[in-house]
Amino acid sequence: MILSIRDLQKDEGRYLPFSGAIALDSDADRARGLLKVNLQAAYVSTRVLVKGKWRVDLQGECSRCLDKFNYYLEDSFREEFTHLPGPAPEAEGLAGGLELEKGERYAFRGETLDLSEYFRQLFFMSQPLKILCREDCQGLCPLCGVNRNREQCNCRQDEIDPRWAALEKMKKQL
Ligand SMILES: [Zn+2]
Ligand SMILES: [Zn+2]
Repeated sequence: MILSIRDLQKDEGRYLPFSGAIALDSDADRARGLLKVNLQAAYVSTRVLVKGKWRVDLQGECSRCLDKFNYYLEDSFREEFTHLPGPAPEAEGLAGGLELEKGERYAFRGETLDLSEYFRQLFFMSQPLKILCREDCQGLCPLCGVNRNREQCNCRQDEIDPRWAALEKMKKQL
């Protein structure tokens, strides 16, 4: 996802539409995917303003029942990139030639703005700690291991969940 600064400067102050796809690094637990982006970008007095939406379709393993299932992550974004004078450095700053200015603002040099690394970071920061195949996933039986979304087993659960046992005890003491 590389924006040409010259093209943006020609239409300075106006938002132009762009779309593209960025390959994500493979991840051991989750299927690799493409991050699809639709954005608008404008050049305004040495800054590139960027706003839009991204989406990644993924396959993952449910944190509760361990089933594989398809899901997606998506989000909107809005960012400013300061265009610094001078040519693009060979290999400096963050990957993709982005630099971080004071105040954590992104900056870059040269005739192009490569947003690939920026979007990879957005994606990795948006990873949830847990994913569920569905909101009310019943998970696996802790005794026999059947998937309780599909089967009912005859395992008897203890009358009282151990988490509540302590509470029950306290109640009795009152
Ligand atoms: Zn599940
Ligand atoms: Zn069971």
